[in-house]
Amino acid sequence: MKTRAAVLHALDKQAPFAQSQPLRIEEIELDAPGEGEVLIKMTAAGLCHSDLSVMTGVRPRPVPMALGHEASGTVVQTGAGVGDLKPGDHVVLVFVPSCGHCMPCMEGRPALCEPGAQANGNGSLLSGERRLHLHGHDIHHHMGISAFAEYAVVSRRSCVKIGQDIDPVESALFGCAVLTGVGAVVNTAKVQAGQTVAVLGLGGVGLCAMLGAIASGAAQIIAIDVHDSKLEVAISLGATAVINAHDADAVDRVKALTKGGVDFAFEMAGMVQAMEMAYRMTRRGGTTITASLPHPQHHWPLQQVSLVTEERTVKGSYIGSCVPARDIPRYIDLYLAGKLPVNQLMGERLKLDDINRGFDRLDAGTSLRDLIVF
Ligand code: ZN
Ligand code: ZN
Repeated sequence: MKTRAAVLHALDKQAPFAQSQPLRIEEIELDAPGEGEVLIKMTAAGLCHSDLSVMTGVRPRPVPMALGHEASGTVVQTGAGVGDLKPGDHVVLVFVPSCGHCMPCMEGRPALCEPGAQANGNGSLLSGERRLHLHGHDIHHHMGISAFAEYAVVSRRSCVKIGQDIDPVESALFGCAVLTGVGAVVNTAKVQAGQTVAVLGLGGVGLCAMLGAIASGAAQIIAIDVHDSKLEVAISLGATAVINAHDADAVDRVKALTKGGVDFAFEMAGMVQAMEMAYRMTRRGGTTITASLPHPQHHWPLQQVSLVTEERTVKGSYIGSCVPARDIPRYIDLYLAGKLPVNQLMGERLKLDDINRGFDRLDAGTSLRDLIVF
């Protein structure tokens, strides 16, 4: 069949994207789902910084590639061997497929699935196949999903079935922003009631981390960003204090508010300066967590002795250390109970043809989570 999809052909286009048009809307050929695969009609797909990082070459991927990795959709057709999904089921797509058999999968850490990571690096589905073609050439899949398209074929291992009591457009956020942000707090950090938290970088993931900290009962939640408009959003969502990262005394103010530093500082900005700041505002014995994706050639100079004498922990968090089939329904239940108001992060609803303009909005750093709605 044919589907319209946003295809990246080169990694060198810079902003403004409305002019440079890195993503071209193409009518491409989509194969039928193979064994263990599913054909999905896309409902909505979020614009995330990881897509932008591929477009600008910060996270190099093979091209041509059909982008998009945060999405919700409806099952249209199942391939051989898929017995637990049927046409009409609602799903949230997960951007690391998990094989269920490798060592991380067996240890209950599917976000680190080795064949899943390999397939994502190669731009294939978990099966190793590519189901997208243009003019007789293969198009690579982005993170096993390629969500900026009307239809997609994905591995069953990239789908989590959800109930039909949540707005299917809103459910798209649970595939990346919510899974990554809330998971960093509840799974990676295991924040406990009464502890103190700082979040640096208030994109979709950072704001979700903030909401996760509120849901976890953190006593203080200090939100930090370079844009005052984001700080206003953070206050409206329940941050107990906000600080502009450009303020020279930002770290000292966090220390003063928390009597020496926060229990957990979350670096969500994708920058070494933010990581340095997060480490400095973490208290003795505390934990600094990063869940962002900075440029692979950027390095963070760490004063090693402080790890020892202050018994500090530094942790990475990928997709919120998630078990997707456990966590997505859990976070959706929290949302439906009013305890995780992620709908307040929704920005503009865009058409697929507006996608480059949407990435200009994301690049400017002031938009909330814009979504392509199909
Ligand atoms: Zn993402
Ligand atoms: Zn695995």
